[in-house]
Amino acid sequence: MSKDDAIKIIDKIKGDGRVTLTEYDSKKILAAYDFPITKEKLARDEEEAVNFAKEIGYPVVLKIISPDITHKTDVGGVKVDVKSPGEVKTAYSELMGIKDKIKDADIHGVLIQEMAPKGNEVILGMTQDPQFGPVLMFGLGGVFVEVLKDVSFRIPPLTRFDAEDMIKEIKAYPILEGVRGGVSSDLDALVDCILKLSDLSVDLSDYIKEMDINPLFATEKGAVAVDSLVILK
Ligand code: ADP
Ligand code: MG
Repeated sequence: MSKDDAIKIIDKIKGDGRVTLTEYDSKKILAAYDFPITKEKLARDEEEAVNFAKEIGYPVVLKIISPDITHKTDVGGVKVDVKSPGEVKTAYSELMGIKDKIKDADIHGVLIQEMAPKGNEVILGMTQDPQFGPVLMFGLGGVFVEVLKDVSFRIPPLTRFDAEDMIKEIKAYPILEGVRGGVSSDLDALVDCILKLSDLSVDLSDYIKEMDINPLFATEKGAVAVDSLVILK
């Protein structure tokens, strides 16, 4: 389990001559470390899309999956809250339309995914520092990371205490406690996720150049990776 499984996936992708993993592949690496991910299946045609949506349960999310498309939203590649077989078909054909817009994009299929329960959107990341090796990053999604740069960093391996500290260090921490009627996040689940990423980063440091989980939904009970991107060395 875990490290060997992850390396098998990485070797296969390297064999294809790629360094950028799709969301689907990236989450397979996470899953190898028991990191919680959304229920999802990769559909290759419309019929599969409808069948998988039924299996997963409505409402679902549809996403374009291609190593050539790392920011899916930018190309209209994410359809959330899809509620019926009819809506799946419409969303599927709209996503396939992206093929014509981005010539030569290698499309692996359309990901059919469960809608994650309501939660705070956080970001976990890993980058390589020439001096320290892997460095982990934590922050709240959206403007908090992009505009305010409200993030914390730690060098793995982390203890439970380090992970807790990393969460409590950001200025936006009260939001995770559920101020003003917002969702209060399950901090234990968040700590577990950071510790899993810590293990993964240490084990796979020779293979992974950078990765992020953006967003991780930190819900009232649990946490789930909704999107992820891994870039290999
Ligand atoms: P991108 O490649 O553009 O980063 P994401 O997969 O992160 O695409 O999706 C963009 C946004 O859509 C997410 O930040 C999240 O708010 C929402 N979203 C995506 N997938 C789900 C899901 N399974 N459940 C609920 N919201 C989702
Ligand atoms: Mg994302």
